[in-house]
Amino acid sequence: MRIVILSRNRRLYSTQRLAEACEQRGHEVRVVDTTKCYMDIASHRPSVHYRGDKLEGVDAVIPRIGASITFYGAAILRQFEVMGAYPLNESVAITRSRDKLRSLQILARAGIGLPLTGFAHSVDDTQALIKLVGGAPLVVKLLEGTQGKGVVLAETHQAAESLIDAFRELHANFLVQEFIKEAGGTDIRCLVIGDKVVASMQRQAREGEFRSNLHRGGTAKLVKLTPEERSTAVRAARKMGLNVAGVDLLRSNHGPVVMEVNSSPGLEGIEKATGKDVAGQIIAFIEKEARPHRTKTRGKG
Ligand code: ADP
Repeated sequence: MRIVILSRNRRLYSTQRLAEACEQRGHEVRVVDTTKCYMDIASHRPSVHYRGDKLEGVDAVIPRIGASITFYGAAILRQFEVMGAYPLNESVAITRSRDKLRSLQILARAGIGLPLTGFAHSVDDTQALIKLVGGAPLVVKLLEGTQGKGVVLAETHQAAESLIDAFRELHANFLVQEFIKEAGGTDIRCLVIGDKVVASMQRQAREGEFRSNLHRGGTAKLVKLTPEERSTAVRAARKMGLNVAGVDLLRSNHGPVVMEVNSSPGLEGIEKATGKDVAGQIIAFIEKEARPHRTKTRGKG
């Protein structure tokens, strides 16, 4: 197969591993910097161009689109979808997963466990919002943040009030969430491919920190998932319309709760923690599933 990996940097661990796995399995692979692509959208023969070449006869596209270029990355991916290439994750699903509020609404509607979460716009309802999530301690999250940036713990009612008022003053969009104290600074990353969790790890925040992101100094170890955790992760990915996803869970008193569903999960942490060839499994999934024009949305939306 002819496979394109959309990635801004071919030296990133995940990009390298995916390219390697393509080659090992006998595919022709090209790593393409998303921001340097341009496209012909209005003709009868839609096309994507890169460094003077027209990218033709592409069977499958692996999007590794960073949060900062979601808009343009999704547009390029959509163009490949219009041309009939099979996207590992569809543009519509990626765009959806990048909006934290929208994602939580989709998951809630599907009956998937979530932390109590509130969102408001007007300046008058700070108290009601705090009450909605069961009072302090609570977590406030900027909707635009990634890798734990913009995720703040307010330990007391007063801190929660000042924090919410400050974010409002800045006209920022944010969520207010029940603090899952019993998770003890750990979360679980489940790597879902299709209808299976193929690898999982528990991440532990460093001393004095409640955010367990590896980028924030968290450490990873193996974890055995319960059947309920497994099915929650698989359902969350499916409801978001993602074939491959990193689903982050917290172990709460009321069962597993989903914090986030990531459409471009990093492979380094999870492959190193589990010793599994996740990249190889992703390419095997593409081999099994890819057909021309096989998308649910066909580049719409
Ligand atoms: P980001 O998308 O920026 O990584 P997350 O929402 O995943 O932000 O939060 C970052 C980390 O903070 C999580 O991995 C988790 O360890 C911790 N965390 C987030 N929300 C909660 C919560 N409601 N209760 C307890 N810990 C949380």
